[in-house]
Amino acid sequence: MTIPFLDLHAPYRELREEFDSAYHRVMESGWYILGLEVEAFEAEFAAYCDAKHCIGVGNGLDALHLILRAMDIGPGDEVIVPSNTYIATWLAVTYAGATPVPVEPDERTYNIDPTKIDQAITPKTKVIMVVHLYGQPADMDPINALARKHGLKVIEDCAQAHGALYKGRKVGGLGDAAGFSFYPGKNLGAIGDGGAVTTNDPKLAERIQVLRNYGSKIKYQNQVIGYNSRLDELQAALLRVKLTKLNEWNERRRLVAAQYMQELSGQRNLTLPYVPEWAEPVWHLFVVRHAQRDALQKALAEAGIGTMIHYPIAPHLQPAYADLDLSVGDFPLSERMAEEVLSLPIGPHLAESGCSSVITAMQKVSFT
Ligand SMILES: *Cc1c(COP(=O)(O)O)cnc(C)c1O
Repeated sequence: MTIPFLDLHAPYRELREEFDSAYHRVMESGWYILGLEVEAFEAEFAAYCDAKHCIGVGNGLDALHLILRAMDIGPGDEVIVPSNTYIATWLAVTYAGATPVPVEPDERTYNIDPTKIDQAITPKTKVIMVVHLYGQPADMDPINALARKHGLKVIEDCAQAHGALYKGRKVGGLGDAAGFSFYPGKNLGAIGDGGAVTTNDPKLAERIQVLRNYGSKIKYQNQVIGYNSRLDELQAALLRVKLTKLNEWNERRRLVAAQYMQELSGQRNLTLPYVPEWAEPVWHLFVVRHAQRDALQKALAEAGIGTMIHYPIAPHLQPAYADLDLSVGDFPLSERMAEEVLSLPIGPHLAESGCSSVITAMQKVSFT
C-alpha cells in the first residue's frame, strides 16, 4: 500500500528517545507490576480526563467488564448497548453474566439514539452502556437524564474517544464510570495491550482496584473473587510518553478530517461524517458511507490506499450471539451500516500529501 490505513511505526520514529528512556527507567527499577509508573500514569490520565480516579487494567474489554462487576451487575440483569458497536462492548456484558439489549444509532452520528432507549428499558435494566463511536461523543445529557429517571447507571465505552469533548467536557467523566482501551491502534495506544477505568466515584474506584488484583487489597488477603488484569509498568511508562502528545496528535487528526470533509463534500452517493455543534470528536476513525462500498474499497486498494470496515457484521448477527435469538431485520440501521461503511486512512502521522492522495483517488472512482 502506498498509503497504509494506519502507520503504527510512526509514533516510535517521532518519540524514539523518550520511549527508550522510559524503557530504561522501568528496566533499571527492577519493579514491573503495579509500581510508580502505573501510579503516575493513573494520576496523569485521570487529570487528562477531568475524572477523580483512574485505575489501570489489562485491556479495554476488562475495563468495561470490571466496571460491571464492581456495580454488581450479573445474571438476570439487562444492559443497554449500541447495536452498531465493536463486539467488546457486548462481550463485557456477557462476561458479567448479564444480557446485552441492543438499541439502534442515530442515523447521522452513528451513536446510540437517546430517543430509542426508553422503549428498550424493562424492570431488569440496570445500566446504559454508551459508546463514543469512531471518536465522536454520544449525546450524554438526555441519556443521563433518562438514567436518573429510571435509576440506572451510565457507563461510557471510551475505547475510541480519548480526549473527545461533549459540550466542552471531556469524555471519561460524564457517566458513572468509563472504560478506555490502549490497544496500539487507538488514539492513545500502548506497545501491546492496556486499558483503564476512570470514574468520579471513590467507592467504585476502590472496588475496581481490588478486582483487578486478585480481589486483594492487602497481599495474600482476598476479599472477593477477583481477576488478574493490571496495566503493567512498562506499558504505563510508554503511555506516559504518548499522553504528552495526545492533544497534538488529536489536533493533527482533526486537520486530516477537515481536509477530507472539505474536499469530499458534494461527491455523489458518498455520505460524510456528521458532527453535531456540541461535539468535538477526536477522529479515531474517519468513516464514510457508500452504497457500493465493496467496489469503492477495491478501487482504492488498486490505487494503493488502505481502508478498513468498522464493522462488517453487526454483533446481533455474529454466530457468537446466536443464543440471543436475534435475526436479520431486527436492527436494520446497523445492518445497513455494516454493508455501507468504509474507514479512510487517518492518524496523526498521515502527512498532508497522503491525505491528498486519498482525496484524489476518491475523486477518480468512476462508478459514483
Ligand atoms: C477497542 C475497543 C474495545 C476493546 O478494547 P481492547 O483493549 O481491545 O480490549 C472496546 N470497545 C470499543 C468500542 C473498542 O473500539
